[in-house]
Amino acid sequence: MAWTRVTVIEDDAEIRECLSASLRKMKYDVHAVSRGADGLSHAAAAAPGGVIVLDLGLPDIDGLDVLKMLRATVNTPVLVSSARDDDSHIVRALNLGADDYVVKPFSAEHLDARIRAVLRRSGGRHQESVYHVGGLSIDMEAHTAVLDGRELEMRPKEFRLLAYLARHAGRVVSKDELLNEIWDDAFGASEKTIDVHLSWLRRRLGETAAEPRYLHSVRGVGVKIAAPAA
Ligand code: CA
Repeated sequence: MAWTRVTVIEDDAEIRECLSASLRKMKYDVHAVSRGADGLSHAAAAAPGGVIVLDLGLPDIDGLDVLKMLRATVNTPVLVSSARDDDSHIVRALNLGADDYVVKPFSAEHLDARIRAVLRRSGGRHQESVYHVGGLSIDMEAHTAVLDGRELEMRPKEFRLLAYLARHAGRVVSKDELLNEIWDDAFGASEKTIDVHLSWLRRRLGETAAEPRYLHSVRGVGVKIAAPAA
């Protein structure tokens, strides 16, 4: 199963959260931010691939400037979203290299269709979909994790947790971030839920919290994945 990465840059909290939740249900790997600057730093830090959905009216940087900067640095397809009365913006966005646009309000199903179309057209710039951390490789397309040549059996949430940590390898990821990215708060997940999944993951990886190899908990902060020292 392919989990296409979608970066949503949208300052309207209601739209951002609603869209993120709907896209996650459609099995997209969603990263949502409210500011243009955060979108740019995420696009620069993340492995290439996926799609960016960019709101043109942002509080910190004009969406068209964000688009220009994205076009200068990454070749991830960009779908701009805009309010109906922003026609001139849309034309300028397309001229600046946007791959498509959606007019607000739009449904998640509509966006899903546009994302698929954009990905089909940009098939040539296909994403890097395998992440490596030490002896661990995580294939986002095939939805498999292999440790030292052995495929790990994993539940979907465990896979998403591992894949998310691997995409941000070396960085401590907070439990709040994991709750936002992997669990929809609506389903009543808590930090305890994450702890339980981490302990399952540790077992799959053949390690314990007391003697970590890949998964390192940082008390009060979160967890990071890193290659074992030796
Ligand atoms: Ca806006």
